[in-house]
Amino acid sequence: MNRREWLAFLALLPLMGSARALAPKVEAARGVRFVALGDAEYAGTRGGFAKRVMRQPALLALCSEVDGVRRALEVAAESGLKVGIRSGGHCFEGHGLIDGGMLIDLSAMNAVSVANERAVIGPGAKLGGVYQQLGAAGRLLPAGSCAGVGVAGLALGGGYGFFARQYGLTSDHLVGLDLITSDGRHLRAEGDDELLVACRGGGNGHFGVVTKFEFQTQRLPSRFASFRWRFRQLDVPRARALAERFCGLAADLPRTCYGSFVLNGRTLTVLVTDFADQMSPALAKRLAEFGRDATETPAPREDGLLPGIQRFSGGTTPMYFKNFSAGYYADWADLARGFDPLAAIVLERKPTSILQINTLGSAIADRSVKSVYAHRKALFLGEFQVYWNTPAQAAAALALAASARTEIERHWTAHYANYPNDEFRGAAEAYYGNQLGRLQALKKKLDPDRRFQEASAI
Ligand SMILES: Cc1cc2nc3c(=O)[nH]c(=O)nc-3n(C[C@H](O)[C@H](O)[C@H](O)COP(=O)(O)OP(=O)(O)OC[C@H]3O[C@@H](n4cnc5c(N)ncnc54)[C@H](O)[C@@H]3O)c2cc1C
Repeated sequence: MNRREWLAFLALLPLMGSARALAPKVEAARGVRFVALGDAEYAGTRGGFAKRVMRQPALLALCSEVDGVRRALEVAAESGLKVGIRSGGHCFEGHGLIDGGMLIDLSAMNAVSVANERAVIGPGAKLGGVYQQLGAAGRLLPAGSCAGVGVAGLALGGGYGFFARQYGLTSDHLVGLDLITSDGRHLRAEGDDELLVACRGGGNGHFGVVTKFEFQTQRLPSRFASFRWRFRQLDVPRARALAERFCGLAADLPRTCYGSFVLNGRTLTVLVTDFADQMSPALAKRLAEFGRDATETPAPREDGLLPGIQRFSGGTTPMYFKNFSAGYYADWADLARGFDPLAAIVLERKPTSILQINTLGSAIADRSVKSVYAHRKALFLGEFQVYWNTPAQAAAALALAASARTEIERHWTAHYANYPNDEFRGAAEAYYGNQLGRLQALKKKLDPDRRFQEASAI
């Protein structure tokens, strides 16, 4: 345990006493098992993907059925505990973890089924399994690429990836859900019900526990191709020129394509993927032109869809990192306003960090689904990332992340709710824009006692 962790542990000692005192009152009930702070099982069950987050709930409620969720909420109300929620556990800031509160863990509620082009998905399901299970039925839910990410958190905050420019966001496919409120009511939302509209981009941990999702799916494409270029030993002017070139390429990409610009220290990797049934000659020409002076051009890969996306599934073991939105950009001119100082942090400062710019636009901008997602017109989304291996390296990495955040806030005020940073000024406005008032009104109605009170609370 390092000094930071030791101090966090000391601060929580009084809570450990009360959690133990609470334990006899909260024996397992149908569909839920409770683990209190201080129990042997606690340490191995508490954390999610963001290993840095040390917050310690007094009680973990491991739910396997809807009745268990209801019982957990009863216990929270009886004991005055604030409640956080965890489904896939991939929140960058570990928002489900509330010091001294209750964590409702839904990872065991992970069933996936599909009939008549509609998928019914439990909140604990993760993207890797969802792609496989829907794919076996010839269907696709457009979502992100990392296998360990939960469908729940992803869809409730938006959800973009390889397929979003053709089909829209994951949340645009949400056609129904079941939710348990803090006082145990079971709400069903469908059509354009205010709750469903709010959960299309603004539902993360605010209104209640979503226990079932229903999504309209798409036909499974048959092909997935990827193209990469690497540019090494960059300085700021060269990185800037390549960023402008990337934005120009993005404007020409067909809707079946996704692109990312990943500046990792002094090396830039550009990735373009395509799931059209066949390669268009115009795209081949455009890509060749883009990569004309790359340091390396690895051979393109072409697969069936499921093996193709599996190559981007990433790891699922918890990591030390601080990742967050680096802003939405309307176009290159918007990104150009703050590009140089941000790129300079990545290119010139230690520890090594990453600036990633992802393509949006097309169907994200022009699908007419009622939702609270407030950033449809942005053509690009930035993400800042820094990783480390041991607690001793945390301070330097977090200091670097803080200077990147300061730089980002100087130029861009809109951010992706699913790439949160708890230090953002005016975070809720940044995530929800002009939809925030609407979300707050619904919060007041469904959770008047503010039982759901994660760090991202509205
Ligand atoms: C490695 C990695 C890759 C990623 N890739 C992408 C990507 O390609 N595209 C993209 O759009 N995003 C991506 N993200 C961001 C991702 O969308 C968010 O981290 C998302 O919140 C994760 O959902 P989760 O269920 O795993 O997280 P959790 O930590 O379980 O939950 C996240 C938030 O959602 C709320 N929530 C979860 N379940 C429920 C529920 N059942 N009812 C109500 N509220 C709930 C929680 O309260 C919490 O605030 C990525 C994140 C990581 C770590």
